[in-house]
Amino acid sequence: MGDVTLDHVTKRYADVTAVDDMNLDIEDGEFVTLVGPSGCGKSSTLETIAGLTKPTEGTITIADRDVTNLPPKDRGIAMVFQNIALFPHMNVYDNMSFGLRLRDFSKEVIDQRVHDAAEILQIEGLLEREPSELSGGQRQRVAIGRAIVREPEVFLMDEPLANLDAKLRVHMRTELQRLHKELDTTIIYVTHDQAEAMTMSDRIAVIDGGQLQQIAPPLVCYNEPANLFVAGFIGSPSMNFVEGEVTAAGLTTENFDVAFDPGQLPGVAPGDHLTMGVRPEDVYLSEQGRELANPSQPIPARTDVLEPMGDEIFVYLLTGDAMDAGMGTDPDEGQNQLLMSVDPYSDIESDRDVEIVLDRERVHLFDTQTGKAVSHTLEFAAADADPTETEAGGDD
Ligand code: ADP
Ligand code: MG
Repeated sequence: MGDVTLDHVTKRYADVTAVDDMNLDIEDGEFVTLVGPSGCGKSSTLETIAGLTKPTEGTITIADRDVTNLPPKDRGIAMVFQNIALFPHMNVYDNMSFGLRLRDFSKEVIDQRVHDAAEILQIEGLLEREPSELSGGQRQRVAIGRAIVREPEVFLMDEPLANLDAKLRVHMRTELQRLHKELDTTIIYVTHDQAEAMTMSDRIAVIDGGQLQQIAPPLVCYNEPANLFVAGFIGSPSMNFVEGEVTAAGLTTENFDVAFDPGQLPGVAPGDHLTMGVRPEDVYLSEQGRELANPSQPIPARTDVLEPMGDEIFVYLLTGDAMDAGMGTDPDEGQNQLLMSVDPYSDIESDRDVEIVLDRERVHLFDTQTGKAVSHTLEFAAADADPTETEAGGDD
């Protein structure tokens, strides 16, 4: 049983709080990824689970045992790191079996485990080779094999693919998923790469400044981000954010309005300052937006830079004052810029006046002060709709 629980775990170094009151409940067999920017405390969190460092406060439970004060070797875990340290003058077989030999496993058991792991990892043909005769990807597999032969209850992996080239990284993503299926063991995986986290995990734990921001299945983090940080971190390119003020008719931003009935959002009142979030794929040219069930009002914009990606085109849009200022607008201004994704066959050009609409069903609102999510849709009726025509207002 490889369930792992972190109960109010805090890790402080001198004046840095690397992990800040972390609570995690990871189920047996789950693939959970800790993701966040560099320095947010991912490795420190993993190291407390591994026993490589002791938490300043809090307890860690693995398989219903309090392991907070146990050394790594007694925790039923195996770790794979970014820097693969294979013994250079040992062949693959000896590298993989080294830990087992230290623990006096019988020759038969060792042989069985090494061959089983090699089969899973498809490196049976490499067992006689030395590390210098392997590619980066093969070496990484050997490092994973070394962890597998120990038959741990929990695998801990800290950016194991970070040193591989982009193509191999994508390939290893699917390999790791297959491995997880086959082994059916808990995997706690650390990465700063949100795409890696999205594609492999049952759930992702988004961390910022040592604090857990959200733990949920990848698509829940994508579609219902708990706060501005998660909304901006998950998804590439990033969600557009525009600040605005709530009125009786919806949200008014510097350059455009989005209509909805604020009365339908609990805790929201005219005068509140909210930040609207909308992903590039939820911004449409007006002509395409006609298919939408709940488009916003048309918004005038000017196309700026285009980025053809092959499978889609990213279009940088200028709104409001920036439309006249044109190219060279400070991208950090943000408020006057929107990123839109259009299909690759679109004949869109730069420096054209266009009209865009937002898919109101996929517009997010966040409290500007606290960053907390207020709503993940504005699909409900605009305030100017006749309330007697809505279902709730019916007289039967
Ligand atoms: P991540 O893995 O997300 O990049 P880390 O867990 O390595 O982040 O680091 C979190 C914070 O703790 C950083 O500010 C880092 O500088 C600090 N830190 C990590 N290890 C130590 C250490 N041994 N001594 C002092 N500070 C550390
Ligand atoms: Mg790290």
